[in-house]
Formats: sequence, C-alpha cells, structure tokens
Amino acid sequence: MSHLLSKSKYIRGLQCDRALWLDVHNPRLAKYTREQMQRFDRGREFEYAFKATFPQGIDISDELKRNVDAYPELTAQLLDRLHTPSPLRGTPPNLGGEQRDTIADNNFGSSPKLGEGDRREAVVEECATPVVLFEAGFIFDDVLVLADVVKQNPDGTLDIYEVKSGNTLSETYKRDAALQHYVISHCREVHTFNIVYSGIDDFVTTDLTEELAACHDEIEKNIATMKEIIRGGEPATPTGQHCIEPYACPYQHYCAQGVRQMSLFG
Ligand code: SF4
Repeated sequence: MSHLLSKSKYIRGLQCDRALWLDVHNPRLAKYTREQMQRFDRGREFEYAFKATFPQGIDISDELKRNVDAYPELTAQLLDRLHTPSPLRGTPPNLGGEQRDTIADNNFGSSPKLGEGDRREAVVEECATPVVLFEAGFIFDDVLVLADVVKQNPDGTLDIYEVKSGNTLSETYKRDAALQHYVISHCREVHTFNIVYSGIDDFVTTDLTEELAACHDEIEKNIATMKEIIRGGEPATPTGQHCIEPYACPYQHYCAQGVRQMSLFG
C-alpha cells in the first residue's frame, strides 16, 4: 500500500504548507547546507549507537532498502510470527547478533535459489522469538512511519524507542513522536512510547505514552488538512520567520525567486 504522508513530510507541513507541497511535488528543489548534512550524519551515528544496545535486533531496511511501502507488510509478518512461538521449536531463546547475522547471510544474501518472497518466509520461520525490530514500518490513514526501535513484549504489546541526537526534549521531537504514536497505535497495541536523547555520557529515555495519546484528535485534523494541501496547487505562502524556525527550510532559495510549480494532481 503506498503512502501519501511520512513523518518527515508531516513535520515539514507543520512548519509550512508550501514546504510540504514542495516536498511532495518537487523535492529536488530542496538544498541542504553542509551544516545540516553534518547534523543528519551525527543523528544517524547516535541512532546506530543506541540500536547497538539491542544485539538481537533485526533491521527491516537491510532487506527492503528504499522500498519503504513494503516495510509494513514485513513488519506485520515478523511481529505476528514472533508473538506465536513455533510449536515445532517450543520457545527458543532470543537470537544473538551472530545468529541474526547468519540468518541475514543465509536468507537476505544473493542466493540464486531463493526469490524475495521465499527469503522473507525463511526469515520469518527462523526468527521465532526475537523481539526487536529496527525501522519497523506502520501505515494508517495514508501515513507511513518507520520506528527506530520496536520491542515486542511477551503479551504482544510494543515498546517504541524514537532516537534523537539532541540533548534536550524539544517540542519538535514530541510532535514527531505524536504522529508515530497515532499511526502505530492504530496498527498495534502500544505499551510505551519513549524518546531517547543524548545525556552527558549516556542515553536518556523518557516515556511520553500518555502525553502522546492525548494528541490524537489534533493529529487526525492535521493529517486531513495536509492531504488537502498536497492535492491542491502550490500554496502562495510568503516567506517569514517560519522559514528558519524550528528548522532552516531547504526551499528558501526557491521561494526567494518568486516562481511557483505545477501540481502533479492537476
Ligand atoms: S522558504 Fe519559507 S515559505 Fe518557502 S517553503 Fe520554506 S518555509 Fe515555506
């Protein structure tokens, strides 16, 4: 199932309707500074460091790469199978990193004997009880979100960890997490939703489950509004302070030219 909105587009849309429209219709116009790219890299490094604390984790992106619309289906297959121990195997222990790598080598590699569907079946069969997924995909209301770390509890509920490299819990982080909580909790039962950010010399984890659950009505309205924006023509939003806060918009050079794009939806 293809998606209309993603987490990044939603956050863009909260900042500016025109930026959202451009993200959908002409993202190649975006220009990022070197400082922004370095910040993205630092964020990825921090995220990898946190994921490394879950050696049994399975990374959905290892299998599906950029085919993000396929993430929810594989995520659902893995979560369903992990929650139902194989009667032939009893309840095997969680797979360690070495075992996980073996599965990846055997089943995600370039074996000429296995097609993509076969390989997915194989990994689902092998992973009877590992409980941690990286980049797990969920889709609801045409919105696709990929969760950094999803841990499935024995009762099937999920603990979600969203990793942010900053050292304070900003409102932007919360808005981002609120969208994810909205989507994921319409797909699975969420036990806790946690934001992980950078402490002085360790990870700081804050459980925001109740606060995020209270935002669902607002998010539903925002999504409806953003879908209208995407389906319409390019908004004539003037530049202003919103172009630099909370993030420096990558379309500033374009908007300064005063031209507008054609809509893909006519
Ligand atoms: S530069 Fe400003 S007006 Fe233009 S898309 Fe970005 S935030 Fe919106």
